[in-house]
Amino acid sequence: MEKYSILVTGGAGYIGSHVANAFAKAGHRVTILDTLVYGQQPPRINAKFIKGSCANSPLVENIFKKENIDTVAHLAAFIEVGESVKNPLKFYDNNVSATVNLLKTMALCNVKNILFSSSCAVYGPPQGPLCETHAKIPASPYGRTKLAVEWMIKDMANGIFNIVQSSCHPRLDLGSSSTSQEKLSLKLNNKQKEKVFLDCLREPRLISGSKAGMTKENIESEKKLTKNSLNYTIFRYFNAAGATPKQGLGEKHVPETHLIPLLIRAIQNNKSVKIFGTNYKTPDGTCIRDYVHVSDIANAHILALDFMQRTGTSNIFNLGTEKGFSVKEIINELEILMNKKALIKLCPRRAGDVSKLVAVTTKAKETLGWNAHRSSLKEILSDAIEWEQNKTLEKLKSLSRAIHF
Ligand code: UDP
Repeated sequence: MEKYSILVTGGAGYIGSHVANAFAKAGHRVTILDTLVYGQQPPRINAKFIKGSCANSPLVENIFKKENIDTVAHLAAFIEVGESVKNPLKFYDNNVSATVNLLKTMALCNVKNILFSSSCAVYGPPQGPLCETHAKIPASPYGRTKLAVEWMIKDMANGIFNIVQSSCHPRLDLGSSSTSQEKLSLKLNNKQKEKVFLDCLREPRLISGSKAGMTKENIESEKKLTKNSLNYTIFRYFNAAGATPKQGLGEKHVPETHLIPLLIRAIQNNKSVKIFGTNYKTPDGTCIRDYVHVSDIANAHILALDFMQRTGTSNIFNLGTEKGFSVKEIINELEILMNKKALIKLCPRRAGDVSKLVAVTTKAKETLGWNAHRSSLKEILSDAIEWEQNKTLEKLKSLSRAIHF
């Protein structure tokens, strides 16, 4: 398998740190870019860490050049469905606008491969198991931001990607050599590059081979060179869960909103946990989700990167287990594993939630040879319990250190 230099945005997050770790373990060179906006720590893995936003074009451009990046795994995003309903602009700004900037910088620097973490939240009213072609009618602003980015990436792959490098631009005498990017970087500052980019967006003729002296063949070969030059893999994650406690990787959202960590903490601390909605059209009235181990998700990135690079094809894959569990079933299983009853508070539905999200994953299995090996509910929950227990132990240790000091 060839080795690549990969930028993982959001690589200090829950899924991002697993993905970055998997890439590093597979022998790829990994650079993490993360704002640490939720107070996370850079993961202790074999990767370079840079604090910052993917919206910061000069910073990203610098990383692309310095690390010779050829692939971006874009996971940086706000994820909480309920919050996205209350504060949609925050989500559009962070999830969509920042990605526009990232894609522009990728185009400028000729970084042609992207793995994007989308979500099952893009699907419309769930009528059964969801395959990739199911209608996309997201129920929340969060889902809509993910779908918007999917569209952007697909549009860029179908259009002309590295437009500022095109020799067709009449105002840039850069030639069509592979060093045009370097020449461009030398000649233009960031403001100028931005202007060139926007000019190209406003005036498509600037990129359609209108330069005097270009033959029809030139134009055709240029089109071939520039068209479809962005390769993408879009993953629609179902409910990422579990942890890798031995590596110190797991869920640490602030504030935590996800069912499994909240439940484990509530059971550990004799606190109550809310069930959001008990009147859904499901057998026990609570929502059904497809929980997939985060390390299985990470592994899919390794397989997909190899597949994308080898075949030059772009794809969308669901990542789930094809099995759904209701909120009540998760509670029951945790009570058994933790040998303790949970204190439950029945609450109204949470805004933006849908009754059932269960994946069809035939495509990832057949195309990538992927399987959710570690995603039995027992393994997911056991790893999550171990992770939460380790965190509690860590807290107690640092408390006792502080007292003894
Ligand atoms: N849920 C719940 N109580 C909580 C957190 C979540 O009942 O404290 C429900 C939520 O309404 C959804 C399911 O558990 O039906 C999974 O929610 P989670 O936030 O873990 O993931 P999401 O499906 O929103 O990505």
